[in-house]
Amino acid sequence: MRLAFLGPPGAGKGTQARDLSREWGVPHLATGDMLREALAARTALGLEAKRFMDQGALVPDEVIIGLMRERLAKPDAAKGFIVDGFPRTIAQAEALARLLKDAGQALDAVIFFDVSEEELLRRLTGRRVCRQCQTTYHLVSAPPQKPGVCDRCGGELYQREDDRAETVRRRLEVFARQTAPLLDYYRQRNLLTTVAGEGPIDSIRQAIRRAAGTAR
Ligand code: AMP
Repeated sequence: MRLAFLGPPGAGKGTQARDLSREWGVPHLATGDMLREALAARTALGLEAKRFMDQGALVPDEVIIGLMRERLAKPDAAKGFIVDGFPRTIAQAEALARLLKDAGQALDAVIFFDVSEEELLRRLTGRRVCRQCQTTYHLVSAPPQKPGVCDRCGGELYQREDDRAETVRRRLEVFARQTAPLLDYYRQRNLLTTVAGEGPIDSIRQAIRRAAGTAR
């Protein structure tokens, strides 16, 4: 199973990818999480990426493609994966196709999460994330049992720098300009399936299982 989750920031890709990757026993490869880990470890890559992330801009393609090339070469990705937040540009999509082709593989499907802009703004500005396990919460619609503490691992919850209102607007513009062209790109290749990304998390997960052909 080789899937890509595509959608604007706040569409729920990370939440669904984390749960389904556990269910399916394949790694969840999220470029945003990788960059935040690199930043927490204060690596050169992390510090370089921060400049772009804080502005809501995309990190340059070469950097992201290099990161993904290394990650996909690890043995656990050989049996399948969910990529989340990648590709985000046509150049990244072409690089991914090439990397997979060189390994005798190809994407099975691309799942697009369709969510209204109003709902994206609501989700992103109320989002809180666990520093340790990256589980996400929402201050109003999915609060943790104890404020500021992750239910799953007890880690500290924080607001991502780029989830502040000004940066969120910019990220949505960047999605429309640089990532939305991937919808046509994958539609033309018969890989695109759209899932309605609003409503109960469980129903959305079931729609993704159906789209991926694993619904029981
Ligand atoms: P995310 O967690 O997916 O919302 O990503 C957070 C930020 O990391 C984005 O706003 C970008 O600055 C950067 N980023 C993550 N994935 C990519 C990608 N595939 N290409 C370029 N920048 C990325």
